[in-house]
Amino acid sequence: MKHPGNLFVVAAPSGAGKSSLVKALLEIDSHLAVSVSHTTRAPRGQERDGREYHFVSAESFHAKVAAGDFLEWAEVHGHWYGTSCGAIEQTVAGGQDVVLEIDWQGALQIKQLFANAVLIFILPPSWDELAQRLNRRGEDGAAVIAQRLANARHEVEQARNFDFVIVNALFESAVFDLKTIVHSQRLKYAALRRSRPAVFDALNLS
Ligand code: 5GP
Repeated sequence: MKHPGNLFVVAAPSGAGKSSLVKALLEIDSHLAVSVSHTTRAPRGQERDGREYHFVSAESFHAKVAAGDFLEWAEVHGHWYGTSCGAIEQTVAGGQDVVLEIDWQGALQIKQLFANAVLIFILPPSWDELAQRLNRRGEDGAAVIAQRLANARHEVEQARNFDFVIVNALFESAVFDLKTIVHSQRLKYAALRRSRPAVFDALNLS
């Protein structure tokens, strides 16, 4: 399948700083839209239905899977998550590039569907730092944190299958890395041909 815009997929273990990095990127880049996923997990803190996620029941989620409504889906930390076809279509219709903030399983499914998707993996600088960040964030109980840390050991193994890797040691520097990847992708011939058609037409370049 061809995606008309640029498709960026960001994955990371919990606590590596993925959401903050993507949020910072969206603030400085008005051509990017984030895809809102569906999940069966309960909302946390200030999360609102339709903003961070579409929060749905397991029955409703699996009905959508059966109906072919998801581009990709996966079970992560005991809950189901999926990217609906509609979530992508909305952003593409708005002429924007899309960023998907999903787990590594979903990222690899997206690469199978869209060969030109750019997969970016965020690594923490160390296991100690990851544990500290998960504890500091204060969103989850001890058992959930322990499960996320255990899962992280397997998740980081997947970094080798991604196009780019960012080590999030210093936040500002990681935002710069992310922005650089997005910018470089937009400078590729096919992407530029799409975004600057007048220039290419004037130069008789197909
Ligand atoms: P959280 O519950 O902390 O918001 O997310 C848990 C994990 O699920 C994160 O790695 C997050 O990126 C991932 N995730 C969120 N939405 C999706 C999705 O639509 N598909 C997949 N495969 N993973 C997702």
